[in-house]
Order: sequence, then C-alpha cells, then structure tokens
Amino acid sequence: MTTTAAGLWLKDPLAIYTGDGTDAGGGIVVDGAEIVELVPPGGVPSSPHAEVFDASRHVITPGLVNTHHHFYQTLTRAWTPVVSAELFPWLKGLYGVWAGLTPRDLELATTVALAELLLSGCTTAADHHYLFPSGLEEGIDVQVDVVRRLGMRATLTRGSMSLGERDGGLPPQQTVQDADTILADSERLVSAYHDRRDGAFVQIALAPCSPFSVTTEVMRDTAALAKSLDVRLHTHLAETLDEEDFCRERFGLRTVDYLESVGWLSDRTWLAHGIHFDDDEIARLGAAGAAVSHCATSNMRLASGIARAVELEEAGVPVGLGVDGSASNDGSNMIQEVRQALYLQRLRYGAARVTPERALGWATAGSAAALGRTDIGVLSPGRQADLAMFTLDELRFSGSHDPLAALLLCGADRADRVMVGGRWRVTDGQLVDLDVPQLIAHHSESARRLLARAA
Ligand code: ZN
Repeated sequence: MTTTAAGLWLKDPLAIYTGDGTDAGGGIVVDGAEIVELVPPGGVPSSPHAEVFDASRHVITPGLVNTHHHFYQTLTRAWTPVVSAELFPWLKGLYGVWAGLTPRDLELATTVALAELLLSGCTTAADHHYLFPSGLEEGIDVQVDVVRRLGMRATLTRGSMSLGERDGGLPPQQTVQDADTILADSERLVSAYHDRRDGAFVQIALAPCSPFSVTTEVMRDTAALAKSLDVRLHTHLAETLDEEDFCRERFGLRTVDYLESVGWLSDRTWLAHGIHFDDDEIARLGAAGAAVSHCATSNMRLASGIARAVELEEAGVPVGLGVDGSASNDGSNMIQEVRQALYLQRLRYGAARVTPERALGWATAGSAAALGRTDIGVLSPGRQADLAMFTLDELRFSGSHDPLAALLLCGADRADRVMVGGRWRVTDGQLVDLDVPQLIAHHSESARRLLARAA
C-alpha cells in the first residue's frame, strides 16, 4: 500500500503533535493528498475511510521540514583535512574538491541526502546549491529529477558565487560565475520548474551564497529578479565573526545593514544561521518578517556560535531548522537536528523556555513558514498529508513516559513510516522503492573519485 484510497484513518496514535494545539488523540483521516479530519480522543471519524491503520505504537508529527542543506556535500563528509577546522579554513580546504563535481556525483549526493532525510521523518527539504563548474551547468535540473523520483517535496535554490579570490572573495576563481550567467539561469529554472500551487513538489528560490562569495551587484540584481518572478530569496548570513569582519572591512557595514543595502530585508528572505545579530538587528529582522534557518549541529561542529532563536522568534522572525552540510554536520538527520536545537537553545535560554513542543514547532510550522508555505507544517484539515510516524520500541525508549518528549530526549533517529502528499514513502523503517545498499556503493565510489580528481 503506497497510496491512500477513499480515506485512511490513522487510528488512536500513542501520541500526536498536530502543531496547532488541537488534541487529535483519536488520530487523523487522510483522503487523497490531504488531511481531511482530526479525530478527538476516543472519537470516531465522521469522514468516510475505507482503510484503518492501527497507530497505537506510533507517535505522529507533521512531516519535518528542512530549511537549509547542501546535498552535494554528502560526498565530503568527515574529510580528514577539515575535520577540526572552522568555517573559513573549512571552506578554503573544500572549494577545490567541490570544483570537480559532475552531474552523476550530484545525482547520487542528492539521492543520499534526500533518502537520509526521509528516513528521519523529513518530507520537505530546501537545498542550497551554488556550485556550477564546467559540465554541471544543469545541476538544478539533475536535482529536480531526483526529487521527483523520490516523491519528496523540495525547495531547490539556484545558488551562486560571483566574487572570487582575485577580487577579494573567499572562493577560488574557477568556482565563480558571471552575473549574466547566474541571472539568466535563475530565470530559466523558475520558469521551468517553480510550482506555485498548494501541494507543490518542486519550488525554486534564488540563493547567492554569502557576502564573502557574491558581488554586491549579484545580491542586488537577484533580489530584484526574485521580486519580479515572485520567488523566495535565501543566503547565508551572520554565521561567523569572520564574516562580520569581512562585511565591515569590505562594505563598511554590519551584516544586516549590508542585507538591507542590497534590498534583501523583507519577508521574501530566509537566512541560514543568523547567529551574530544584536538586539536592534533582531528587531529589524522581525519587523521585516525575514526568516531564519537555525542550524544547531553545524553551528556546534564549526564552533560558529549559538543563534538567538527564541529572541528571533519572539521578535516575529519565523524560525525553522536546517541540518546544513552534510560536510558540516555531517549527517542529514532531521529528527536528530530537532534534539540538537532543543539542547543548544536550552544552553542559552534555560530548559523551561525551550520545550520539546517548541523545538518541534521550529522543525514543522516554523520551517514551513521560512519556505513560504502555508500548505504543510501543521496537521489540520485541508493541509497536505505529510507526516512522520515514530515507534518507541527500541531499547533507548524503554522506561520512557511522555511519548512526545521521549522522541527527542531519548534520541529517536529513524521514522517507522513517512507519508508525503498521501503516499507512503517509508514503511517499516525502509524507503519504499530505493535500493539503499546499491546507493551507498555508488555514492561511496563517487566520493572516492571526487577526492582523487582533486589530488
Ligand atoms: Zn550552509
């Protein structure tokens, strides 16, 4: 059974987090691609349902939404020379390797990242792809094919780098493109693939990489293009103090002032990391409605700092979560990312303000808002039937009491079932139509060859 026909009742779950405060202890009913009913505790659905699934072993959450990633980086995880480097030396060590990416590498890397995400309960993922070396000009097209094959949702961003070392940027010259090429390809991809409807599986956003790898001209022109095409904008911002120094030295501005100067301070924008903001900047981001993707694991891995997620959220900034990487995480596990965010934010704000429900809210409704989506992220009638179902049968959960808290506190790392738009994509902890051992073999070989080319 991979699709739901004429109504499916996921009956009496062990626990359910709907995200909108409704107690749906009796479960939910899915019909076609959508959720049609939440059932109160002890209740029976009023909508027709030809099938009933006994969910009494399952904790149900909305499908998790990942707001920041670089799928291609699954090929360079735990690479010895940069295992203990911080962001700038980490990037400088890796740029030369990444410059050798081929379409086949990117296809395999995208498949691996999405497969990992799906297995961890993620149903929608954003990817930030900004490398288009010779031969990989159609990288996003390659990714669209993989997303469609796996039946997940994705916001694929047309990233870019245009400020090479020669002109004072961080990346080597062979990894950057000129403004005309970037803008023309951005426009091409939006017109070819961007789906504006509810239930969209593929959306395109525009994503110059960062202040230290993109010219001011490309930042400004991309914002204007995104406005005219009505698509979202994404970039890395305020990730490290090195970046803050770079902005001050090159532009004479702090990061948010720079963002505003190039026309990006708006609710069209979501920012990866957003760590080093002062009080005034948090207020300005909130007033503008710009969103932040909090990438807790990556921020710890690269020792970048602790984002002010609670203050950002309370200022009106939609806060979502991102696994980032995978070479700066180095996994693509979304439910583990929720646990990391919960704990990292507790270090800053104390335990009482950062509850499991709040962290799950970041990974679902918050992330959906960051991607500009109103059709996913919450379990309620009319929303897409995207959901993750976890069992608590493993040793690590034995003796736990609050099932929802146990998901995070006991360290769930794999979903038992995952549904995207009414279709099961994971059943019994396995992807429904992907040969994982074969994928690992091909992807590992591809990773070896990529490093060999760079040597
Ligand atoms: Zn990133």
